Amino acid sequence: MPYVITEPCIGVKDASCVEVCPVDCIHTTDESEQYFIEPSTCIDCGYCVAACPVTAIYDEFNIPSEWRTYIQKNRQFYR
Ligand code: SF4
Ligand code: SF4
Repeated sequence: MPYVITEPCIGVKDASCVEVCPVDCIHTTDESEQYFIEPSTCIDCGYCVAACPVTAIYDEFNIPSEWRTYIQKNRQFYR
């Protein structure tokens, strides 16, 4: 059950989540509009959720329905 970064990260990208992730599985590029979580490395600790100032991070089963496409979007970043 990996965690997923959703729409509110767009335009914020402050990397607060990156600083607290114990396994360094949150990444982006200069061109990307948001950060992403590597699903195969995430250990589901939830630390990033509390660190995010805009509530952009959800576990896969509790994402608001309008943002469920971000599950695929996060996976796609690592292909
Ligand atoms: S849930 Fe934990 S391991 Fe997964 S991205 Fe967040 S901080 Fe990293
Ligand atoms: S803490 Fe939230 S807004 Fe900041 S980079 Fe991470 S997901 Fe994006």
